[in-house]
Amino acid sequence: MPSFIASEQSKSGSHAQPMRMSRQAVIEIGVNALNEVGSESICRVCIKYGGSCCNGCHHLVNGIGCTARNTSCTAWLCGNLKYLLYATGYLEEWNAFWRQVPGQSFREDHTPDIFAAEKPLHLPAIRQLGEALAADLQELATKHPAVGFIHTLRDKMDKNIDQLNHCKNDPKRRKRMEKNIKALTSPFHRFQSELQEYHLRLGESE
Ligand code: SF4
Ligand code: SF4
Repeated sequence: MPSFIASEQSKSGSHAQPMRMSRQAVIEIGVNALNEVGSESICRVCIKYGGSCCNGCHHLVNGIGCTARNTSCTAWLCGNLKYLLYATGYLEEWNAFWRQVPGQSFREDHTPDIFAAEKPLHLPAIRQLGEALAADLQELATKHPAVGFIHTLRDKMDKNIDQLNHCKNDPKRRKRMEKNIKALTSPFHRFQSELQEYHLRLGESE
């Protein structure tokens, strides 16, 4: 892992001069950023109830996990993680970072070993928010006997957030999408309360 490249990102501000970025470094940056937002606890609940996005992938090896980490799978967000970044206001930060990474495909990539990138990725350490969302999902999965309830919810959040991003110039439709997302995520009580505290802390530090 060329660590100089990862540290290069931390030295440069947003939209700095183009920097040389390696495929391995962006994967590491993405995985670390997801860890910092608490993705692991969310995935644990999802996988426990059979919703892993790696299901059926031939790169998944029992007892080992993924044997072919790539830029595509690192960049990809399911509805749960997308909602976490949407609600905290970091979805565009994530998307803009990955838009500059070439060669993404499905469960594999053709990303060059080294390429030029301008934008670093800055996600905050909000692990407690990810953990709160995981706890809400766990409770929902236990409460709702319907198999795959939390996975259907995940997919609905995914669809609505995508649609919201696709109607930037249509305020009426945007409002509808925002309302849908609010209704879908209304059972996330722990998460909403953590989010409120997070915003309060942000306000105090500004
Ligand atoms: S679908 Fe989302 S929550 Fe589930 S394992 Fe994949 S990334 Fe994690
Ligand atoms: S390649 Fe992607 S889908 Fe396949 S096991 Fe790895 S992370 Fe999962």
